[in-house]
Amino acid sequence: MGKKIKKENLKKLFEDISKEYKVIAPVKREDDYVLMEVKDFSQVALDYPTTVLPPKKFLLPYKDTIFAFDGGEFKETIPEEKIAFFGLHLCDVNAIGRLDLVFWNDPYYRARRDKMLVVGISCKPSESCFCKSTGANVLTNACDLYLKAEGDSYVGFSMTEKGRKLLSQLYFGPETVEEREVRVEYEEKIPLDIYKIGKRILEDYNNPIWEETAKKCLACTNCTLVCPLCYCYDVIDETFVVPNEGQRVRCWDSCLLLSFARVAGGHNFRKDLKARYRNVYTHKFKTFVDEFGVPSCVGCGRCVTFCPADIDLRENLSKLGGV
Ligand code: SF4
Ligand code: SF4
Repeated sequence: MGKKIKKENLKKLFEDISKEYKVIAPVKREDDYVLMEVKDFSQVALDYPTTVLPPKKFLLPYKDTIFAFDGGEFKETIPEEKIAFFGLHLCDVNAIGRLDLVFWNDPYYRARRDKMLVVGISCKPSESCFCKSTGANVLTNACDLYLKAEGDSYVGFSMTEKGRKLLSQLYFGPETVEEREVRVEYEEKIPLDIYKIGKRILEDYNNPIWEETAKKCLACTNCTLVCPLCYCYDVIDETFVVPNEGQRVRCWDSCLLLSFARVAGGHNFRKDLKARYRNVYTHKFKTFVDEFGVPSCVGCGRCVTFCPADIDLRENLSKLGGV
């Protein structure tokens, strides 16, 4: 059940949320859209295609201090900030839901997640979107409040207690709207049967697609950086100029890099880019599905849009026989 809110009243909703949270919203930056802290509603771009970096930028920051040390004393660095995402598309909302499956017991992730508010909003799927194929086009409780566009209004659907509290405010109208399931519907350019593909990846281990892709791929890692569900990381100790002071940081890494699977003694389990590329797909569409029942991909299309070598993950998946 949802409640209507007029577009002009979104500002009140935003301001209400801003009283309690640091608000992160999509903002236009030259030709792109980025997720960043917003203090004034006029900065928010609600009608956007996709942002360059996904919400993981705030949940699992590029460089996250996991503890600091000072003269032999350890200092806890559990984050305390309260973040609200304002205006995430369903793919990104569901990416958060899928990150929860992996990081729920991680104290740094969990501290941010427990205090977080997620407000989703309708989107207009682009050519590179395929959230339907990944099951990420459906509203889930990873979202506290979802705003579905309807003419000159939105219908707000609450999925959690935090969402219900917002929905009870006066800027939402009294009339209610019935909807059994909220989902984004559209025709995908390359519809895929992700679960069938997942099974085929290991059955067809030597499919020529890996070699063909490795020949084109620059190993730039753009695709894994922009992916809302790529979370490979490295852990580094940093020492400062001041003696005995420093910190341990968790920072983004990519399994597409040559160094990622290199172990002590110099052996590398995935020396060839072909093996590294196949590993990305195996993890996303086979082993993650085996473990959690969903793929580690929400079909946001970022890897397609931002690949400088024009490698299209959907085309590769369809060649593996998943159409
Ligand atoms: S693999 Fe590509 S389409 Fe899937 S979630 Fe990651 S960036 Fe988006
Ligand atoms: S963005 Fe494209 S070229 Fe760069 S690593 Fe990914 S697939 Fe390769």
